[in-house]
Amino acid sequence: METILKNIDIIEFDEQFDTEEKCLQYLADEKWKSGFVCRKCGHTNFCKGKKTHSRRCTKCKTEESATANTIFHKCKFPLTEAFKITYLVCHNPNISTSKISEKLNIRQMTCWKFKKKIVECIDSRGDINLLEKADLKKNLLGE
Ligand SMILES: [Zn+2]
Repeated sequence: METILKNIDIIEFDEQFDTEEKCLQYLADEKWKSGFVCRKCGHTNFCKGKKTHSRRCTKCKTEESATANTIFHKCKFPLTEAFKITYLVCHNPNISTSKISEKLNIRQMTCWKFKKKIVECIDSRGDINLLEKADLKKNLLGE
């Protein structure tokens, strides 16, 4: 994910992720780019889930949303804003939350909390893996 975030400018970014639907579409594409595997039973066949871009295992019926296991899961503010914060932090991990708040017109507390989540995903090499938080944690802890 960091690749796309780093390689486009803010104007392109705004156009590409201007709706919640586009953000979800992107997360689903990235998450399942090597194919769907049910986290519960390992089955690889799926059908459309109830939520936008979620997928449902045809065997055990477990539904996984596009945001599950990503830092965007249970995000309490619009996904489009979360994507923008992510964009700014990926470009400049040292950006202050007051600056983000000022640029995006989002409450500073919201920016602070979300930036914290992103920073937790930056691994020792400086890569940001926003889509596989659990694996990353494992890497960081050396388990
Ligand atoms: Zn399953």
